[in-house]
Amino acid sequence: VIELGTPTRSVVTTCAYCGVGCSFRAEMNGDTLVRMVPAKGGKANRGHSCVKGRFAWGYANHRDRILNPMIRDHVDEPWREVSWDEALSFAARRLSAIQAEHGRRSIGVITSSRCTNEETFLVQKLARAVFMNNNTDTCARVCHSPTGYGLGQTFGTSAGTQDFDSVEQTDVVIVMGANPTDAHPVFASRLKKRLRAGAKLIVIDPRKIDLVKSNHIEAAHHLALRPGTNVAVVSALAHVIVTEGLADEAFIAERCDDESFADYVAFIRDPRHSPEAVEALTGVPAQELRAAARTFATGGNGAIYYGLGVTEHSQGSTTVMGIANLAMLTGNIGRPGVGVNPLRGQNNVQGSCDMGSFPHELPGYRHVKNGDVREIFERHWGVEIDPEPGLRITNMLDAAVDGSFRGIYIQGEDILQSDPDTRHVAAGLAAMDCVIVHDLFLNETANYAHVFLPGSTFLEKDGTFTNAERRINMVREVMKPKNGYADWEVTQALANAMGAGWHYSHPREIMAEIAATTPSFAGVSYELLDRMGSVQWPVNEEHPEGTPMMHVDGFVRGKGRFIVTEYVATDERTGPRFPLLLTTGRILSQYNVGAQTRRTDNVVWHDEDVLEIHPHDAEQRGVTDGAWVRLASRAGETTLRAKLTERVSPGVVYTTFHHPETQANVITTDYSDWATNCPEYKVTAVQVACSNGP
Ligand code: SF4
Repeated sequence: VIELGTPTRSVVTTCAYCGVGCSFRAEMNGDTLVRMVPAKGGKANRGHSCVKGRFAWGYANHRDRILNPMIRDHVDEPWREVSWDEALSFAARRLSAIQAEHGRRSIGVITSSRCTNEETFLVQKLARAVFMNNNTDTCARVCHSPTGYGLGQTFGTSAGTQDFDSVEQTDVVIVMGANPTDAHPVFASRLKKRLRAGAKLIVIDPRKIDLVKSNHIEAAHHLALRPGTNVAVVSALAHVIVTEGLADEAFIAERCDDESFADYVAFIRDPRHSPEAVEALTGVPAQELRAAARTFATGGNGAIYYGLGVTEHSQGSTTVMGIANLAMLTGNIGRPGVGVNPLRGQNNVQGSCDMGSFPHELPGYRHVKNGDVREIFERHWGVEIDPEPGLRITNMLDAAVDGSFRGIYIQGEDILQSDPDTRHVAAGLAAMDCVIVHDLFLNETANYAHVFLPGSTFLEKDGTFTNAERRINMVREVMKPKNGYADWEVTQALANAMGAGWHYSHPREIMAEIAATTPSFAGVSYELLDRMGSVQWPVNEEHPEGTPMMHVDGFVRGKGRFIVTEYVATDERTGPRFPLLLTTGRILSQYNVGAQTRRTDNVVWHDEDVLEIHPHDAEQRGVTDGAWVRLASRAGETTLRAKLTERVSPGVVYTTFHHPETQANVITTDYSDWATNCPEYKVTAVQVACSNGP
């Protein structure tokens, strides 16, 4: 750790890594950040933190940061440093020229789950009120968009049902497609404490994650399913619950929609959903599936926590709806210790979705086709909003290759590294006339950019993040923006360069506009947040200090709706050429594509992406522990070191995606969730062979 002096003042703010949303005291010596100390009053973390939040903030001062705007006419030319005015005029001229020639729907934006609610609100407003189209999408597209769809369909809103405190009253927990120990460490500590106190655990994951057996914790059941068979496993659990008479009939009669339940029961009773029928498909022994279903249905308060191992599949939305069905079947909604809880990977995935980043929804999850909702925003913004939903990221890239989509503003997202099918992303970006990257570093996407606008870190701005439990946390300026402007100011300046006439002087004014237009935020203000520390939406007249638990007396949509969840096999299949299935995940010390954590000089991280492979599969290929291997799919190939482990089953291999040298997304395919286009990162047929190294 570099010695930075003795702190003389401190500012309470929120961690910008994962969706737990820990509160920190940033301790300063003058303008120098000396250390981050977990804040005791933080309601999400209660004085705890993980290694990333506590130590991995040094990227804010890293020499790689770009602090001056840059432009170039063509991407094969060198960058030219210019003034903010020149860069913004250049960007505005290009975007306006594209629209003049190709129509108003020929440009769009991508918002970031890393940025504040206020910044995200402005970026989607830029699309809707300045570009005059709904071409706005978010990096949540590639992680939790199926949560938005699935929970919206079943419960009526896209959010976790509980607060984190709820885990202290749970009796039986399903953790599905999530690895909280590495990805949500502070929540994992609370979960482990409850498990050590006797709560039962069911892990549904192809990999033997740490929770399965560690430090006085042993899962009652580990359903080590074959990647891609989530829907079949969840349906088998529901089949047992229904056919063995374990459903909570009183809850269902009172709280759920009769017709949808009747259809669902008729569907799920079918013997093709029985554990015995799906054993060969899922790879999970039938008796283990039966036992897990009984444990969950009869174990008392049952809570389900899930992550990207559920959503990033061709049937991600179907699995989310299956999970919601399971919670309603067992009456596990609307009281402490139960619920359906998506664990959000990025700090503001929840907020990014809440703020209207999706191309079909205005803030508050209201469809753009709804004229009454459009009218609210039209009144505030003084423009007519396009009633047609815009393009998703993948559709923007497809349209770019076709020539009809030609300009994009990307805030805080490296789509070339984080989105699937890297070659297609590159082709789309290369086909555009104006790519504006607004970021901290010259990332991989910036190789295709014409304008680079320097971004600000979470330490350099005021605003709010919303965590996985819908908690709106304050983000406070710890130091002045090194580039001169916070991200919301840059978006405003770009809008004004295109003639918008915005005049926000502080993010609190943006929050006031969010509150005035978005019912779930109606009562939110910086005064309330300063007084309460944080609040969970909805915040309104009925719940002026927020809502820790949702769907208590009724679902947001009225009656809970069961959905028939038919299993459809992914088109990604193993075969003689690609006989293994690759799935991906995270490690504790790194964060996503590593742009921040790899640039943290105050801690030295010693890690690299490795390929976990079962010793049996390794032996068949002559692969030894630590040896270089070539990992190839039909999409591409990469080289990394092998790690022999029984954490993965035979036939399954696993890697992380933190290091650009590995480029794990060169391997992943273009298959995606049927409802939302969330990429199928978790199932890729691959071959593994010995290699001499990169
Ligand atoms: Fe930050 Fe998440 Fe770690 Fe908390 S658990 S300190 S929010 S990375």
